[in-house]
Amino acid sequence: MSGSSLVWRADGYFSTDPNDKDVVVFTCGHHYFRRTFVETVLPEFRRRMDQLPVPMPLTSQLVLTDYHQPQQMHAACPVCAFGSIRQDVQRTHPQYAGDKIKPWSL
Ligand SMILES: [Zn+2]
Repeated sequence: MSGSSLVWRADGYFSTDPNDKDVVVFTCGHHYFRRTFVETVLPEFRRRMDQLPVPMPLTSQLVLTDYHQPQQMHAACPVCAFGSIRQDVQRTHPQYAGDKIKPWSL
């Protein structure tokens, strides 16, 4: 598989079927049940982005929009994307070094 990610059907993206076993897989190795991805991972990504000391509402919205592409996403997985953004913020704003921006790992 190439690219950042893929593996979910175009249909039923917002399915709340408890038997939904579709999985979202990223090349970083992170993978999530689609339902978990939609109901837990994406809201947590948004929450963390909203809490950054350096506001990035446009970046956040663009990435979240990409995650909602029904056929294929292009962004890195939310956990890794947030980690990269966190590092960038800390590099450009050293006052936020350390755990002032909490790391996100699963
Ligand atoms: Zn990842």
